[in-house]
Amino acid sequence: MAFVNENFLKLPDNYLFSDIAGKVNAFKKEHPGADLVRLGIGDVTQPLAPAVIEAMHRATDELARKETFRGYGPEHGYDFLREAIITHDFAPRGIRLEADEVFINDGAKSDTGNIGDILGLDNRIGVTDPIYPVYIDSNAMCGRAGELRQGRWTNIVYMPCTRENGFVPEVPDSRVDIIYLCYPNNPTGTVIGKGELKKWVDYALDKDAIIMYDAAYEAYIQDPSLPHSIYEIEGAKKCAIEFHSYSKTAGFTGVRCGYTVVPKELTAATATGERVSLNALWNRRQCTKFNGASYITQRGAEAVYSPEGREQVRDVIRYYMTNARIMREALSSFGLQVFGGENAPYIWLQTPDGKPSWTFFEEMLREAHVVGTPGAGFGPSGEGYLRLTAFGERADCEEAMRRLEKWLK
Ligand code: PLP
Repeated sequence: MAFVNENFLKLPDNYLFSDIAGKVNAFKKEHPGADLVRLGIGDVTQPLAPAVIEAMHRATDELARKETFRGYGPEHGYDFLREAIITHDFAPRGIRLEADEVFINDGAKSDTGNIGDILGLDNRIGVTDPIYPVYIDSNAMCGRAGELRQGRWTNIVYMPCTRENGFVPEVPDSRVDIIYLCYPNNPTGTVIGKGELKKWVDYALDKDAIIMYDAAYEAYIQDPSLPHSIYEIEGAKKCAIEFHSYSKTAGFTGVRCGYTVVPKELTAATATGERVSLNALWNRRQCTKFNGASYITQRGAEAVYSPEGREQVRDVIRYYMTNARIMREALSSFGLQVFGGENAPYIWLQTPDGKPSWTFFEEMLREAHVVGTPGAGFGPSGEGYLRLTAFGERADCEEAMRRLEKWLK
């Protein structure tokens, strides 16, 4: 008899975005003529940079000729891309990495979800709350999260991010072995300064914990004092794994490419206290379970770092950040409390009069015909908030603000 992994049965079967889609579809059925503005799902809308497209066309042509055809590539990525990453994303920030500390992947979701393969099941997990759901669900799938009781997993330490603590929690006072941090943050759009991040690195070094640092939105940082990488903090190579993605940086949500840094200095313990390199384990895991991102994709990602590519990608980011500014200014002028949107493409809006997130979401849908994402869907501390994305078309952002103004006033 074949048995299932029963941990999967503990997962709630409602997925936030399918719940939203269900409500939106029901509304559309009732009001077929309604023209909705969708600022819910965090997907990009602008096309790939011309430099990326040209590089991918060139790579396709290479694969079309016998002399330049390539089959399987290295599981951990081509050196041309690893070197470009080190040269452009890390060296200018004073971070020295070697090529074999960078693992190219098909986007940050895979690696943030799979990294737990190389870690023991007894580790206690700490997450900022609200949170990108993959961190918790992937731990639940292997049984590391414990049991789900009243919306909370028993082996997860939830660290609330609230307006009172500036959306950066204090280091926990109970035992945590693996900590997920994401800055700039999805969903709150808020950031962490170097001083605060140092507290986390010091904590991890002191407690022999590991930080999973999700930097998927670092390209959106505008304030030059903010860290783009946890490795800007001394000692972080001994305690942190970092995830990057070209999805939001360069419109690769459909193309699929990102990378993970696992420093060689980073080790974790066996039950008998022996130290083991996580870089070696991750390499072993990837060589077994992953066959690399496509050559065409990696040439496209490399082009993000070319002089033209950098300029073009910067322009797109500027476009989204202008959307964010327009939304921030408009929403504040309607008397709403808004957070994020200054160094991240998300606006975290506090619902008026403490209204529950889902109630506000439904009212906004029905009365203003604007779709957002209820904050409660990202975790208990998201209750009373709603996320709006700046990844839409300019005209849609402006139209949404006009509708919200009319509705709220
Ligand atoms: N991390 C965060 C915080 C995200 O918001 C997302 C996507 O929305 C990802 C990782 C995954 O991105 P991708 O798999 O497209 O690289």
